[in-house]
Amino acid sequence: MIYLDHNATTPLDNGVFDAMVPYMNCHWGNPSSPYSFGNQARVAVEKARQRVAECLGCKSAEIIFTSCGTESDNLAIRGVTGALRRRGNHVITTAIEHHAVLNTCKDLEAKGWQVTYLPVGSDGTVKIADLEKSLRPETVLITIMHANNETGIIQPIEAIASLAKTGGIIFHTDAVQTAGKLPCRLCELGADLISISSHKFYGPKGMGALYVREKTPLDPLLTGGPHERNLRAGTESVAGIVGLSHALVLATESAENECKRLANLRDRFESQITSVIPRVKINGSAAQRVPNTSSLSFESVDGESIVFGLDLRGIYVSTGSACSTGDPEPSHVLLAMGLLPKEAQGSIRVSLGKGNGEEDIKIVVGALADTVKRLRSISSMEN
Ligand code: PLP
Repeated sequence: MIYLDHNATTPLDNGVFDAMVPYMNCHWGNPSSPYSFGNQARVAVEKARQRVAECLGCKSAEIIFTSCGTESDNLAIRGVTGALRRRGNHVITTAIEHHAVLNTCKDLEAKGWQVTYLPVGSDGTVKIADLEKSLRPETVLITIMHANNETGIIQPIEAIASLAKTGGIIFHTDAVQTAGKLPCRLCELGADLISISSHKFYGPKGMGALYVREKTPLDPLLTGGPHERNLRAGTESVAGIVGLSHALVLATESAENECKRLANLRDRFESQITSVIPRVKINGSAAQRVPNTSSLSFESVDGESIVFGLDLRGIYVSTGSACSTGDPEPSHVLLAMGLLPKEAQGSIRVSLGKGNGEEDIKIVVGALADTVKRLRSISSMEN
């Protein structure tokens, strides 16, 4: 098979698996137990926290382990708005966020909060002037993603962070698609809260983390024990935490080289596709993007039919976010960038990863050209 859907999930790295096993079959104590057997697990959790903090560029006390990126986003958004509900009732986000953020903001609206959904330009980025105009005295939180999961387009996080800081507003960024992918220390971008998810960088599924800058007001989502500095009750998933930290260290160590390799591969893929297939558009190619992601719109074909056509050849791509698979609606991200519904429907996402090389690109370009040609020959959208 050729797997090209790394933005949906990645395989568990073998070294990460080996690092996790002892915490399932050997040191399986409860980190909160007072005796030494429990303490072995506590030491592993705290060492993992330290390693994550070093990768992100923060203090270990600023890392909270969660069950996934979705929980990290929820904890950030509901946690800050809960803690600051007496100070204001306005949140700013964008129209292109992942549903983990969008649906959380919609739920806040249903509970009486005011939410501004900033538009993006045709290049997929938010304009700082629009953000500036949307600020109100009652704004308590800005939540804007680092890179988009469908297009890979990177937002101007440092400029947003500096605006938020000037206005005394808390800023959260969903960095699920950049953690371990970009050679930078995410905390240096200036956000107050940062969500990451382990299964996007070759770690285990069901593990996430939230960076919470010291003194950031935050209410917990769960009631229970005092775990994670009273911010995330529940016995820690020790093996998962060890796995997340190990995976992040490995991804961080290789990020610079892997970034260059994938950018090269992606650029070659895009230039070959546009030269062999007529009427195809690369979405967001003018913007800064994470190096592994390519969003392509093909005229007169349905993205879902391309996905199934490639599936028959053992090639796995997606129409956009894995969470919207089966959703007949065109991508909200591409619509927000100004694509027509029929253009958005004709889109696929190719997201490269560690296992992909030059040979895969050659095979995929050929398969994609055949599939699009065949689909166009039977398409009712072709005149
Ligand atoms: N945010 C973004 C940008 C994502 O791409 C995803 C998953 O695709 C999530 C949040 C949710 O992460 P998780 O699957 O760990 O809940």
